[in-house]
Amino acid sequence: MARELIIAKTVAEAVAAKTGSATFVAGGTEVNRLGSPNDADVLISLKRCSGLSDISTDSGYVTIGSMCTFQQLVESAETPEYLREAALFMASRTKRNMATIGGNIASLRSDSYLIPTLMAVGAVLEMAGKDGSSNRIGIAEYVDGNEVGSLIVSVTIPSEAKVVSKRYANTAQSHAVLTMSASLSEEGIWLDGAVKNVGLLHFCDLEKAFRDDPDISEEKIIEMVRSCTGLHTADDMFGSDEYKRYLIAVTAYDLHKRLTGKEA
Ligand SMILES: Cc1cc2nc3c(=O)[nH]c(=O)nc-3n(C[C@H](O)[C@H](O)[C@H](O)COP(=O)(O)OP(=O)(O)OC[C@H]3O[C@@H](n4cnc5c(N)ncnc54)[C@H](O)[C@@H]3O)c2cc1C
Repeated sequence: MARELIIAKTVAEAVAAKTGSATFVAGGTEVNRLGSPNDADVLISLKRCSGLSDISTDSGYVTIGSMCTFQQLVESAETPEYLREAALFMASRTKRNMATIGGNIASLRSDSYLIPTLMAVGAVLEMAGKDGSSNRIGIAEYVDGNEVGSLIVSVTIPSEAKVVSKRYANTAQSHAVLTMSASLSEEGIWLDGAVKNVGLLHFCDLEKAFRDDPDISEEKIIEMVRSCTGLHTADDMFGSDEYKRYLIAVTAYDLHKRLTGKEA
């Protein structure tokens, strides 16, 4: 249980307060969740931190402050439609009013609402350094463990992108077994997903298969995922290993069809 709460008013104050035993708190929906792994001695609240809650558009990109709540994302006219769709995966409006985009990214959950979409569009994070500097990293780098624990200042994404997403859960409020997003760029399809209890995955083999043969059959995709040794799915309360692999395959196939306009 935390012993101290620091209310940071600036990014510099927040970063200066971040020692090994301290953690940032944004909306608090994950930090204060019953069963949360957070056991920090010191909480650094970002609620009063200036400059972290704006959404702005410039030259075809939208920059979203890390303290923007899911509800702000839903309501802002500047939010690209594909991100609004992902924000609405959080079905509870009460939670949307508290939870932030920065908190969602930093939580790195294997059922993340937003990360698959942000990865599919190649979101760029602005990170605050201890010395007052800031640097920008791709979200894939962050997911790989770079800069985890540092303060996320903002997230930049394209205003326009062809993106489709799909989330599977028993009810709108339940944890999702799979959330997957795909986007289409000049290089071809980008496919990313959150697989419950497995992790945040970039499906590069599937991307290559679709890029090499846009008319590849669903059966081939199912077989590819079924026999993939690099995918560490397992049986658990969310479904069998076989079921998860099947779901990943048919979803990837379906998203590709939707993006390329080849739906049956
Ligand atoms: C019942 C319940 C169900 C949930 N289901 C899901 C789910 O299905 N999918 C899902 O993704 N989440 C789920 N969550 C978790 C949570 O609601 C979301 O991940 C939310 O977006 C976290 O945002 P927050 O602002 O509340 O983060 P907080 O709880 O404030 O912080 C979460 C983590 O992010 C860090 N952090 C916060 N802001 C920053 C920042 N700017 N820079 C660096 N680090 C930062 C904190 O230190 C902490 O480690 C659930 C929570 C509850 C209570």
